Amino acid sequence: MNRPFNFSAGPAVLPEEVLRQAAVEMLDWNGSGMSVMEMSHRGKEFISIYEHAIKDVRELLSVPPEFSILFMQGGGIAENAIVPLNLSEAGQTDYVVTGNWSERSQKEAQKYCTVNVAASNRESGHTCLPSPASWKLNDAAKYVHLCTNETVHGVEMHEIPDLKALGSNAPLVIDFSSHMASRPVDWSRVGLAYGGAQKNVGPAGVTLVFVRNELLGRALPHCPTAFDYKTVADNQSMYNTPPTYAIYIAGLTFKWLKKQGGINAIEERNIAKAKLLYDYIDASQLYSSRVAPACRSRMNIPFFLNDASLDERFLAGAKEYGLLQLKGYKTLGGMRASLYNAMPFEGVQALVSYMREFEQTKA
Ligand SMILES: *Cc1c(COP(=O)(O)O)cnc(C)c1O
Repeated sequence: MNRPFNFSAGPAVLPEEVLRQAAVEMLDWNGSGMSVMEMSHRGKEFISIYEHAIKDVRELLSVPPEFSILFMQGGGIAENAIVPLNLSEAGQTDYVVTGNWSERSQKEAQKYCTVNVAASNRESGHTCLPSPASWKLNDAAKYVHLCTNETVHGVEMHEIPDLKALGSNAPLVIDFSSHMASRPVDWSRVGLAYGGAQKNVGPAGVTLVFVRNELLGRALPHCPTAFDYKTVADNQSMYNTPPTYAIYIAGLTFKWLKKQGGINAIEERNIAKAKLLYDYIDASQLYSSRVAPACRSRMNIPFFLNDASLDERFLAGAKEYGLLQLKGYKTLGGMRASLYNAMPFEGVQALVSYMREFEQTKA
C-alpha cells in the first residue's frame, strides 16, 4: 500500500518504519508477552525503553551532561505556565513575540509573573523577525523566552541568539516544539528548551524538556508538584505515570533519526526540502509566501493562492493526488505545508508537481 503524503502541522507524519515496527511489536514487545501500553512504568522492560530513549536523544542532539532531559505532559501550552511557575520567582521576565505561539506564551505567563515584551513583530503581521540587537531586555529578568519556530506564521530563527552578547545574563528559554531535532542546537546559548513530541519526534502526549541542572529547584511554592522540574528530574520523569506509549514511539523515532545519519544529515535534507518548495512558490504566478526570505521556516510553510476562491478546489485536488492536510491555520487561511523530518523529499516533489499542474490547468 502506498500511503499518501501528510503535511499536517501536528500531530504529524511519523516515519513509516517506526509505525511498522510499532505494529509488529503491538501485541508482544520484545518477547515480554505484553504490549508497551500494558507494562508497568517501573518494570525492567519499560525502564529499558525509557533509558534507550534518553540516551538516543542525548546523543542525537548532543545534549551536554549539565542538562536534564525530562518527559512531561501537557504540551507546549502547559509549559507556558510551567516555565514561569519554575523559573520566574514571581519577578520580571522578558518575552519576544514573533507569532501565534509566543503571543500565547507571554499572555499565559502574565498569570505568574511580570512580563516585559522585549520585542514584537506584530506590526509586520508576524512575517519577519525583530533583530536581536533591537530587543529591549530587562536587567532584572529571570529568563528570556523565545519561540524559535512559529508553527502558524512560518517564521524561524535560524540561529539561537547569544543573550550574553546582547548584555543579558538571564537564561534563555526556547519553545522549539515545531523544529526540535530538525537541526543542531547550540546548547551553550540555552537554559531550557521545550516542545511537544507530536510535531517532529513522536505522537501527542509527551513533552520534552531540556533544562540546565542549575535551574532546578527554583519553583514557586504553589507550583504543582508534578510540574516542578526538580521533582520530575529527581524521579527520572516517573514521579507520576509517564506517557509510556508516546515515549516508546519517540524512542523509535530517535533511533530512526540516528539511522538517517544524525542531525547534520537531517538538517541538510530539511534545507533541500524547504528550498524546493520556496523556490517554486517564488517563481509561480499563482502562489505566494508572505514571510521575509531570511526568516522563513524550514518546517512550516504557509502559502496563499492569489485567488482565495480557488482554495477549496486546490485542497480537494490535492487530496485526490495523495497530498493530505494542506489547509492553513484557521486564523490565517490559505495553505500550510509542514515538512517535518519524516516527510520524504519525494513528498515535496509530489506537492510541487501538483501545485504546478493546478496552476497550469485549473487556475
Ligand atoms: C503546537 C505548538 C504548541 C502547543 O502544543 P500543545 O501540545 O498543543 O500544547 C506550542 N508551541 C509551538 C511552537 C507549537 O508548535
